[in-house]
Amino acid sequence: MNTPVDYDLVIVGGGVVGAALACRLADTTLQVAMIDAHAFNDHTQPHDDDRTLALSYSTRLLLEELGVWSALSASAEPIHTVHVSEKGRFGTCQLRQQDAGTPALGYVVEARQLDRIMLERLQSQENVDLLSATRVTALSQTHTEVDLAVSTTDGHLSAIRCRLLVAADGSHSSIRKMTGVHAKHTDYRQTAIITVAQTERPHQNMAYERFTPQGPLAILPMQDGQCSIVMTVDTADEAILSSTDTEFIQTLHAQFGYRLGRFLSIGKRTAFPLYLVQSETQFTGRIVFIGNARRSLHPVGGQGFNLALRDVDALATCLLENAPHQFGNSTQLTRFTQMRQSDQSRTTYLTDGLARLFKEGVEWLGPMRALGLISLDFSPWARKKFARQMMGMHHFSHDKHNTKLLP
Ligand SMILES: Cc1cc2nc3c(=O)[nH]c(=O)nc-3n(C[C@H](O)[C@H](O)[C@H](O)COP(=O)(O)OP(=O)(O)OC[C@H]3O[C@@H](n4cnc5c(N)ncnc54)[C@H](O)[C@@H]3O)c2cc1C
Repeated sequence: MNTPVDYDLVIVGGGVVGAALACRLADTTLQVAMIDAHAFNDHTQPHDDDRTLALSYSTRLLLEELGVWSALSASAEPIHTVHVSEKGRFGTCQLRQQDAGTPALGYVVEARQLDRIMLERLQSQENVDLLSATRVTALSQTHTEVDLAVSTTDGHLSAIRCRLLVAADGSHSSIRKMTGVHAKHTDYRQTAIITVAQTERPHQNMAYERFTPQGPLAILPMQDGQCSIVMTVDTADEAILSSTDTEFIQTLHAQFGYRLGRFLSIGKRTAFPLYLVQSETQFTGRIVFIGNARRSLHPVGGQGFNLALRDVDALATCLLENAPHQFGNSTQLTRFTQMRQSDQSRTTYLTDGLARLFKEGVEWLGPMRALGLISLDFSPWARKKFARQMMGMHHFSHDKHNTKLLP
């Protein structure tokens, strides 16, 4: 093999999280490579599905810092209200933008569009090399560097050396396996079915989170009066995937009712088996895990990418702040881990708790849940606290972003 090509940092995985880190490090003095197993313009990539992402307001602020929000904003639909309810029970709660004190609670975007905009930004960056259709075939590390053997799909082999390797290669992370880092898998025995629907009544920028005995159902506002649907069903009920459109719409109405009038049409359906996957460590030596490679969450509350982006911001801040000789060493990575521990645990606890709390079989909890929703609806203080947690606003110092918050 040839002499290794040197980089400061190599990101393995060019999904939304890996690409976000590369954008955050663009225009810096660091030499960065981003490797993906697929061609960047290949729309058959596993992550290139019809997923929409509910982005919190804090994520919008971070995407502004990455220089991608201006291109994304035209296709981002704002969420002004979140309506939370439970099927078959009294008690609802509405979180409004005023509760959080921000111009919107969040935005709905197509993951594919976000990906495309970030890649366009990266293609013009002198300090970032994009290595597509490339896989890591072997890796080893010393106290000061990581050596990679990589291979392209057409069989070209080369060697890369870097001071820090960031694994952003998804929940089945090959880097995790190569380094012997274990991950804890919790099977929710649920499947999320995503699709897009046209509704009779306008959504008025309201997002719905409805808890049903099958699992949570999210209906998110999109552009052109469409709504994105994330319906969670028991894995045993996956047959709904192959039902006709009319049958699927009937199931939707049975779960959601007619708050948006009739569902007029439904798009292609895609299924995602749901697991909580958590790697046992944030980093090992000079290899750090982010995004789904670190933690893959239940989609309830739409927290996965939002949380990962706050990790990306903190990691980049640590890498850029410290003295160059500390770059990627254990002191720096320990500091990053400590900075992120409480947000990561809180968000994981919240999504895992929500996914379990509303599950069938915990019948006696029903009245308590209804009471909880009613209490939340009546308490401006509790609504504000809950809204700001869901939006990740604690990540921001008031000094830095105060101008963007409503009084
Ligand atoms: C149904 C559903 C709805 C969701 N909704 C929301 C939401 O509303 N809001 C939100 O914040 N989050 C949401 N999430 C979570 C969000 O989708 C994830 O947090 C996000 O996609 C994680 O991105 P990633 O880049 O870490 O991983 P991935 O998207 O899996 O990307 C991994 C990348 O690594 C590459 N790769 C894999 N293996 C290799 C290899 N060996 N070598 C090189 N490259 C490799 C892949 O090609 C891919 O490009 C949702 C998740 C689901 C399932």
